[in-house]
Formats: sequence, structure tokens, C-alpha cells
Amino acid sequence: MSSPLFIEPLDLKNPLNMHSQCGHCKQSFEPEPGFYYGAMFVSYTLSILLLLPLSLALVFMFDWTVNGAMALVIFLGALFFLRILRFSRALWINLLVKYDSNYKKSS
Ligand SMILES: [Zn+2]
Repeated sequence: MSSPLFIEPLDLKNPLNMHSQCGHCKQSFEPEPGFYYGAMFVSYTLSILLLLPLSLALVFMFDWTVNGAMALVIFLGALFFLRILRFSRALWINLLVKYDSNYKKSS
């Protein structure tokens, strides 16, 4: 049985809508207030790791202008912003909450 972290499909007015807990093991998806504060830094880091090499490659290997590369990077950043943000939250809770593959649902 799957129990997704986020409520799908993505609602643009409420992109970070999450289930309150795991449907299988009842693990809270917000263990404490502000739990996902650190996910912002993960999101920032992921965006840099994805977009910086791309822009450097475009400018130095494919002779794009800096402005052209910036325009593409801003466009891609905006396009994938919510997906990266959601992925960062998933990464964050997976870093901080241990996954127990032997968990058996009781009762
Ligand atoms: Zn669970």
C-alpha cells in the first residue's frame, strides 16, 4: 500500500499540501512546527547543483551569451521550482526519520 507524502495532483494554490501522517505506519509528516525549514536549504542547494553546471556548460562549451544562459536558467528554475521544493521536503524527512523496512502494521 502506498501512502504518498504529498497530496496529488499538485494544486498550484497550495503546492505544499501534505498528508498529516503516513497511512501505513502513522508516522507524522510534520513531527514538529517548522520541521521543513531546513528543506529550503536543500532546495536551494539542489537548484544550484542542477542549474550552475548547466549555465557554465552553455556559456563555456556552447558559446551562449551570459544573458541567454541566465534567461534559460531562470526559466528552468521557475518551471521546476515546485517539484524541487517537494522533492527537498521528501529528502529532508528521509534524512531525519529512519525508514524501518521491517515495520509490521499492528492490529
Ligand atoms: Zn509509514
